[in-house]
Amino acid sequence: MRDFGGIVERSPVRVVRPRSADEVARAVREAAAQGLDAVPRGLGHSTYGQSLTGGVSIDLRELTGVEVGAGHAVGAGHAVAAAGTSWREVLAATLPHGLAPPVLTDYLDVTVGGTISAGGIGGTSHVHGVQAGNVLALDVVVDGEPVVCSPAVRPGLFDAVRAGLGRHGVITRATLPLVAAPERVLCCTIPCRDAEDVLRVQRDVTADDMSAQVKPSEDGDGWTYEAKAVLHGDKAEPPPGTTEVEELSYFDFCDRLRPDVEELIRLGEWARPHPWAMVFLPASRAAEVIEATLADMTTAALGLSGVILIKALRVGHVPMLAVPDDPVLFSVLRTASPGCASVADMLAANRTLLDRARAVGGTRYAVDSVPA
Ligand SMILES: Cc1cc2nc3c(=O)[nH]c(=O)nc-3n(C[C@H](O)[C@H](O)[C@H](O)COP(=O)(O)OP(=O)(O)OC[C@H]3O[C@@H](n4cnc5c(N)ncnc54)[C@H](O)[C@@H]3O)c2cc1C
Repeated sequence: MRDFGGIVERSPVRVVRPRSADEVARAVREAAAQGLDAVPRGLGHSTYGQSLTGGVSIDLRELTGVEVGAGHAVGAGHAVAAAGTSWREVLAATLPHGLAPPVLTDYLDVTVGGTISAGGIGGTSHVHGVQAGNVLALDVVVDGEPVVCSPAVRPGLFDAVRAGLGRHGVITRATLPLVAAPERVLCCTIPCRDAEDVLRVQRDVTADDMSAQVKPSEDGDGWTYEAKAVLHGDKAEPPPGTTEVEELSYFDFCDRLRPDVEELIRLGEWARPHPWAMVFLPASRAAEVIEATLADMTTAALGLSGVILIKALRVGHVPMLAVPDDPVLFSVLRTASPGCASVADMLAANRTLLDRARAVGGTRYAVDSVPA
């Protein structure tokens, strides 16, 4: 069995596909009785074996479903989603009520349980924090028993499970806060000079959703930087420095990666190994690490469909997600395309980036691919 990274391969003793919390609990108890690890798996979109095991694989994709409740003490409403539900399915259930989760991942086809166990960063994370910080309560199987936890009930377990990579329990259901969803959004492109300029824009411009990408320059001799500020509503004024504006429905914006993903599947790039590096850098040192990394880097080290992202964020109270103060996520999402650097070279480059990040107080996003 493999994951999206396509680098690590493990053969589980068995795969179980539970449809209820009780079936998860039974699978965990049976694995323990045999002395086997039980490792939960969402859609296996982590990149270095995080969801793989030689023991019992608990595949949660049949544990799905969303209920939307109007009104909640802390906001516009809430949703109760089974752990194997994708964020696409959550959004499909909430949008008819004019509601959405405060934070969505850039790519919607990952699971509620998987991203709460990872952290879950999205374009709104500079305002709302990470998905693991936007949870009202969790149903979890711990030591083979289903229990509920929240900030008020078993808070220690609640803190251990969120961003806990499945090591402290299997999430079976999450109660999520919802916020009002806009009908339309304005996507404003702001070209930037360099990483410092990207960070300035991300700090100074007020936007509902904020991201930035670094792309190979057209002359092939360097990199271009582009921030994207997304404003909810269609009446908003584009921020200074905007050179392009696109108006989209909110759903099309949330699902913006889908056409590219379909193309990558068609080209075969989606099935190639993905040695991804993702590090959290302190904002005060982020530009120097990003620039040093890009100065060393060729397009062959990124792959034909590789992507580089910069995102300033805040995390909130998620103790298991270790980040420096004022964190910036720097992601070098490599694809080992034919004619490009080898997987081994890409992994070595990821190691170099992580060492560089650690030298300035940075940390890693644990769903990345970095050899020990
Ligand atoms: C194309 C793509 C785009 C992505 N975009 C983003 C993004 O915008 N933001 C972001 O933060 N991340 C992003 N990711 C990374 C994503 O957060 C991780 O892949 C994450 O692991 C979610 O994927 P998954 O649901 O497939 O979980 P898996 O990869 O299956 O699992 C991830 C980890 O969580 C554990 N786990 C899974 N389900 C449960 C559960 N129910 N209970 C307890 N533990 C569990 C697993 O054992 C594993 O350790 C992206 C990944 C891909 C491939």
